[in-house]
Amino acid sequence: MTIEPNRDAWHVRHRNGAWDWRVEGLCRNQDPTSFFGPPDSDAPSPTDVDIAKALCARCAVRSECREYALNNQEPFGIWGGLTERERRQYKWFHLRPSTHPTPLI
Ligand code: SF4
Repeated sequence: MTIEPNRDAWHVRHRNGAWDWRVEGLCRNQDPTSFFGPPDSDAPSPTDVDIAKALCARCAVRSECREYALNNQEPFGIWGGLTERERRQYKWFHLRPSTHPTPLI
């Protein structure tokens, strides 16, 4: 007798967790090389970056993924369609405290 995994139960169990969005990620069953580079490298090639970004652009959980990476300062890979450098730039432009003085009136 073969026991099949209960995929519905697995989904229900992970739907309420902080990582539930990962279940919906288009990269879930993809080669991680496009997102993190080959094992002997510390970054994906420009071609792999294009492949990963194209996948992220169609992903239903792109916002959740990007938010997770920004909040947790993920140092490697492509998350939510952003490279490491783009995440640093995003934080610099969007999340830093304002340097403009508060208007008096
Ligand atoms: S946005 Fe990109 S990295 Fe994030 S889950 Fe989707 S496909 Fe994966």
